[in-house]
Amino acid sequence: MEVRIIDGKAISAEIRSELVVKTEKVKKELGVVPGLSVIMVGDDPASAVYVRNKEKACAELGFRSELYKLSADVSEVEIAELIDRLNADSNVHGILIQLPLPRGINSKELINRILPEKDVDAFNPYNIGLISTGNYGFLPCTPAGIIELLSRSGIGIAGKRCVIIGRSNIVGKPMAMLMLNADATVTVCHSKTRDLASICREADILISAVGKAGFVTADMVKEGAVVIDVGMNRNAEGTLCGDVDFAAVAPKTSYITPVPGGVGPMTITMLMRNTLYSAVHSCGAEGYSKYI
Ligand code: NAP
Repeated sequence: MEVRIIDGKAISAEIRSELVVKTEKVKKELGVVPGLSVIMVGDDPASAVYVRNKEKACAELGFRSELYKLSADVSEVEIAELIDRLNADSNVHGILIQLPLPRGINSKELINRILPEKDVDAFNPYNIGLISTGNYGFLPCTPAGIIELLSRSGIGIAGKRCVIIGRSNIVGKPMAMLMLNADATVTVCHSKTRDLASICREADILISAVGKAGFVTADMVKEGAVVIDVGMNRNAEGTLCGDVDFAAVAPKTSYITPVPGGVGPMTITMLMRNTLYSAVHSCGAEGYSKYI
């Protein structure tokens, strides 16, 4: 069977060029410049890379972006006050807190403090509730990126058996909601799942979000399945890799995402789409759907 590698970099670039055009239109016709504010606490090197990539994406699309870099010993109250200021600022359409936060800071409380209409990560319980009822506002970025990868690769979802490994609030659970809303039959697996391999072998679409290199092996994959690898791990040589044993699994699949260059590039692109969506909504524009 011919294996097709899903090129997340190319699909992400295609969506970004569409977003550039849409942003121009929004600026011209609605007079609003999408604005994203990022709060980063401490100096975790991985977080610094993510934040830099978000700033670059904003520049590429013509968004306004601002970074609040706070020292690791900042108090929760100070962060809360900053969130309140950004909530009240009409130039700010998206607020995100770069996770993880240093120990001792309650990230849940702070995330919940971001107004739902500025919660471009879609982590606030209000937005999670909307996603669960299929009544979308913001879409969770990584799962939404995966839906785009599938649809832009011409892979149908309706009626398919989808198995998701991982049940985190950021990836596994919202992914299950989006696949369910797209009419897949969904099974969510986790560390207590019994006979994981045989459940995975039933999947037409297998999505792995575990965080362990080499976790998905060829015996877990049905011939012709679509395999989506969300994992971002380092192998023994220190190289970035996913959860899937790519060399062994790819020949059995019809489509597979590589790591790097698969799901990863889509996440920030979806964050940008959410920020544009928020900016358009902030205008209360009639017929806003023509802008996004
Ligand atoms: P997480 O919160 O650590 O969740 C991992 C999930 O894997 C948990 O639900 C856990 O089950 C499950 N798991 C662990 N060991 C297992 C096993 N032996 N069998 C079955 N399930 C097992 O991680 P996450 O935040 O969802 O992220 C997952 C991976 O995706 C990480 O590598 C992360 O870096 C990556 N990621 C990538 C992107 C991107 O943009 N590409 C975005 C987000 C995350 P329990 O719930 O039972 O513990």
